[in-house]
Amino acid sequence: MRHPVVMGNWKLNGSKEMVSNLIKGLDAALEGVEGVDVAVAPPVMYLDLAEQLIGKAKNKIILGAQNVDVNASGAFTGDISPEMLKDFGASHIIIGHSERREYHSESDEFVAKKFAFLKEHGLTPVLCIGESEAQNEAGETVAVCARQIDAVINTLGVDALNGAIIAYEPIWAIGTGKAATADDAQRIHAAIRAHIAEKSEDVAKQVVIQYGGSVKPENAAAYFAQPDIDGALVGGAALDATSFAAIAKAA
Ligand code: 13P
Repeated sequence: MRHPVVMGNWKLNGSKEMVSNLIKGLDAALEGVEGVDVAVAPPVMYLDLAEQLIGKAKNKIILGAQNVDVNASGAFTGDISPEMLKDFGASHIIIGHSERREYHSESDEFVAKKFAFLKEHGLTPVLCIGESEAQNEAGETVAVCARQIDAVINTLGVDALNGAIIAYEPIWAIGTGKAATADDAQRIHAAIRAHIAEKSEDVAKQVVIQYGGSVKPENAAAYFAQPDIDGALVGGAALDATSFAAIAKAA
């Protein structure tokens, strides 16, 4: 049985004060929440502080990050390695977010390299996939998602998805308030799982597929009631401890 994972992607938001308030607030709000893994991905700048606060928290909060480089060390100005993330206790690492694909020109192949590098270092990739509005309107959603996943499967083999997380995030639903309906999201999640099942039924059955894109406390339960939606990757609503904990509670 798959275990739901609700992860907060804080994106480019934070200050020492905000990180402190948010993690403390989340710890308090998570009291009694069970059956779901809760993770947060602050900007790397705040991993140290987040690790310390999570260490003192009463409730389990998994630490994550929003990106990783494909090199271990050396002359790569501005980059962060898997071992550095591990050094600060981060385990769940978001890769291939549409904002990185768009603003940093990250290709499917580059994202697949990051995926491989994380696995090599024992970290959990959270592989973001999803279509643009134009691709959605052209009926290309499943083909786009399949292509993005195949970049990983074709280089590493389908078993590489074991223990990894896939986050289906339609780009048009991110930060827009225009969330996919639970039925539409379920249809795409089922198609993604079926695509993986063509290579391995076992991997398809166990891989966690999160939905992301304008998830709020009000719509979260409808997603989690779907058989192929195993949690959420949350942006805006993850910046409020009460809202984020309410989403986790719904899982
Ligand atoms: P929002 O929840 O703000 O739509 O962001 C979703 C997202 O991009 C999470 O990675």
